[in-house]
Amino acid sequence: MGYSALMLVRDEFLQIQSGQELLTNRGRRETMETRFTRMLGIKYPIVQGGMQWVGLAELASAVSNAGGLGILTGLTQPTPEALVREIQRCRDMTDRPFAVNLTILPTIKPVPYEEYAQAIVEAGIKIVETAGRNPEPFLPLFKAADITVIHKCTSIRHSLKAERIGCDVVSVDGFECAGHPGEDDVTNMILLPLAARRLKIPFLASGGLGDGMGLAAALAMGADGINMGTRFMVTKEAPIHKKVKQAMVEASELDTALIYRSLRNTARVFKNNIAEQVLEIEDKPGATDFEDIRPLVQGIKGRELFEEGDLNRGIWSAGMVVGLIDDIPSCEDLIQRIVSEAQTIINERLQLMGSV
Ligand code: NAD
Repeated sequence: MGYSALMLVRDEFLQIQSGQELLTNRGRRETMETRFTRMLGIKYPIVQGGMQWVGLAELASAVSNAGGLGILTGLTQPTPEALVREIQRCRDMTDRPFAVNLTILPTIKPVPYEEYAQAIVEAGIKIVETAGRNPEPFLPLFKAADITVIHKCTSIRHSLKAERIGCDVVSVDGFECAGHPGEDDVTNMILLPLAARRLKIPFLASGGLGDGMGLAAALAMGADGINMGTRFMVTKEAPIHKKVKQAMVEASELDTALIYRSLRNTARVFKNNIAEQVLEIEDKPGATDFEDIRPLVQGIKGRELFEEGDLNRGIWSAGMVVGLIDDIPSCEDLIQRIVSEAQTIINERLQLMGSV
């Protein structure tokens, strides 16, 4: 890590350590400040990543109420009008900041992205997470509305591009992540220090995060916060069937699969029978025809899987972090646990090592 990044980490640690006035009467610090929390006015540097069919108002508001940043998933709503209604529902459940995710990736049905972007602006949203493709076409609209743009990137070159075109924050998505890790296969142990050396804007660590050790490590590697998707799926408030949550509690770090590699649209999903059937089709000699796998992977089946708890109805995104998930806490308990674990690591284990 470069000298300036190290100084930044040290400054953040000093701030955390000097915040004695922030101790609650239960001995826990009430906030964990970074450039990211200050920018958004949130208590903890913990973001719930945008997730198809999962990022509904119940989860986003629970995360925001617990002091993190909740995110509604734009395309989970069938129309821009429905998204506006979901934003209103979320506002009814929290008065804290929350964001909307807009993912631009291949889809079976064409998506009117501009209309979704317009709806986000007109609904008065002030934080947007973009993902999938270069968000440049949407930036003039978002910037004119004073929206903070967090762009999710799976490589340093895309992170630098995001910074150059005016994104405010980059969410650096390592190969461990759920959903689409890109095609470079670089893990966060490399991506995060590179981001610390090269980016000027705040960045989040995304992929493989699920506990306080991950948060402390991400901060040590220069990140200004963490983004968790899979970990938040396994919470009381996540609007998915209990059987899906339980399957992730029981899973190990070996229970994910990378599908669509042959289509250069790689996605990390839970390794169920359907994912294995997709892999078999992709393994056949010759180019993969998406039409051969479409009936297995269509998003609507994933939604039914989440609603009904039939684990082999379709596919669902899950990260390697399933190997670290052992319980189904509330978002409040999860965030408090992660923050206090990280603070203990920073203030005890790491401080001891740093003192002369
Ligand atoms: P969908 O029903 O349109 O498509 C199902 C899956 O097939 C998606 O993963 C999609 O990327 C893929 N796909 C569609 N057309 C394809 C093609 N021509 N070539 C290769 N792959 C193709 O998708 P959905 O489940 O309704 O999701 C809507 C959007 O959200 C999609 O773009 C999807 O990729 C994205 N998504 C992102 C994440 C994430 O982790 N960021 C997770 C789930 C879905």
